[in-house]
Amino acid sequence: MNQTGKFDNVAACDRFFQARINEDFYLTFDDVILRPGYSEVLPHQANLESRFSRNIRLLMPVVSSPMDTVTGSRMAIAMAMNGGLGIIHRGFDPETQASHVSKVKHRLNAFITDPICVKPEEKVADVLRMLAAKDYGFTSLPVVNSSGITVAVVTGDDFRFCVDKEKDLISDIMSSKLISGTPGMKITDVYKVLRRYRKKILPILNPDGTLNGIYTLSDVERIVADNTENLNLDSKGTLFVGAAVGVNPEERERAHLLALKGVNVFVVDTAHGHSKGVIEMVKYLKHEYPEIDVVAGNISQAQAAKDLLKAGADGLRIGQGPGSICTTRVVSGFGAAQLSAIYECSYAVRSSGIPICADGGIRYSGDITKAIAAGADNVMLGSLLAATLESPGEVRTENGVSVKDYRGMGSLEAMDENKSSAERYGQSPENKGKFVPEGVVGTVQYKGTVFDVLFQLMGGLRSGMGYGGAKDIPTLKKIAEFALISPAGGNESHPHDLQSIKDAPNYHGR
Ligand code: 5GP
Repeated sequence: MNQTGKFDNVAACDRFFQARINEDFYLTFDDVILRPGYSEVLPHQANLESRFSRNIRLLMPVVSSPMDTVTGSRMAIAMAMNGGLGIIHRGFDPETQASHVSKVKHRLNAFITDPICVKPEEKVADVLRMLAAKDYGFTSLPVVNSSGITVAVVTGDDFRFCVDKEKDLISDIMSSKLISGTPGMKITDVYKVLRRYRKKILPILNPDGTLNGIYTLSDVERIVADNTENLNLDSKGTLFVGAAVGVNPEERERAHLLALKGVNVFVVDTAHGHSKGVIEMVKYLKHEYPEIDVVAGNISQAQAAKDLLKAGADGLRIGQGPGSICTTRVVSGFGAAQLSAIYECSYAVRSSGIPICADGGIRYSGDITKAIAAGADNVMLGSLLAATLESPGEVRTENGVSVKDYRGMGSLEAMDENKSSAERYGQSPENKGKFVPEGVVGTVQYKGTVFDVLFQLMGGLRSGMGYGGAKDIPTLKKIAEFALISPAGGNESHPHDLQSIKDAPNYHGR
């Protein structure tokens, strides 16, 4: 208890879930409500930064699901350009999936990792001859000494005002003050620095002073004009992207192709992550590709979280049966109501700090707030991102409404079409047409662009952080207090006693 005689908030959240889990009673989003608290936070001030895995940053805590009606390269680009992350699905054959990763990686081309550099002791005339011979259209170059340290930038003006080009060295004409940036810098910050110091290029330096790459003003201007504050970029300046892999031996070749194209994070994508195959795949990936994060799942139990953490996972994906297209629980009798599963898994690995992804069952923006308050660091969305401009598939009309198809990866149709879907649910790919589905096929009303959907969802999360008094995601996880809500309370929460309801951009009825 704290000094005012109340349990402090961390204890309050733990007490709330633990008491019920101890009675083997699981809760989900609609069972609970968050208690408003004293606040000095306005929604627009809330900081939405979070992580998907140890090294994968998110500027907003949303990830698109690796499903063949949700995430190809177009969705992954839209997600990363809005500050989130897309996980390319593995319904594709490995080469096609890798080509989608490559498309995301080449979307910006703003960061040059192997720029032309010059040495301080080179003659000015020699450098100008080299630039002319190769017909390079630029003259701003990083100057790197013989130890590989970036010491300056030499610019077009330096060359222009050089009096004796045959005699002077680069060290005689280069500007003495080096303006540089650090890996992982936001593109908008790069732009600010370039403008403030009136530079045409910004070298990005590693902590030891070696050159990581450069940004050029013209590229950065183009991107900033294009969009947004919120590009989610890795340390090479390319959009973050993840890709799903399975556990069968041939999935190792898939991982290899994805790694070659620069994928940032593997998602070991199965319906039952607490299994030998997943643990072995996580160990294999961590051993072979130590520089690429691995998120493993799906799980819903504390012991599963501990075992995957021990195997080396950099993040965990929670959800066994909550998805809008899932039938796992009714088909198999197994699963766990999602909010308690999020709490239980996150509590089990809390001291490790590895991020928790709440995957499936999110229907309203308020569910995102609840998932994070219960211990998640981010949410994974299927149906809410399906049927957007950027999701795969065509818009068609069904009963006068514009829709796109949305299907479970464990649906008969998905398993029939690609063997990795059958593998995800542990079924033999040889059984063509004889599968036991754990998902269904449906349609979702067309929603417009991913930007518009995320704007509403993040607006709702921000609003929740305002009601809770949480300035950022870690604070929301710390201070949240849950209460059970009665069915009558739940009814009261939705619009009621109206003759008709006009669609709102963030509410489409129950
Ligand atoms: P949604 O956001 O639509 O509620 O849930 C999406 C999540 O459902 C996916 O990220 C994935 O974990 C899960 N999922 C996708 N397809 C299937 C399926 O056919 N069966 C089951 N049990 N889960 C699925």
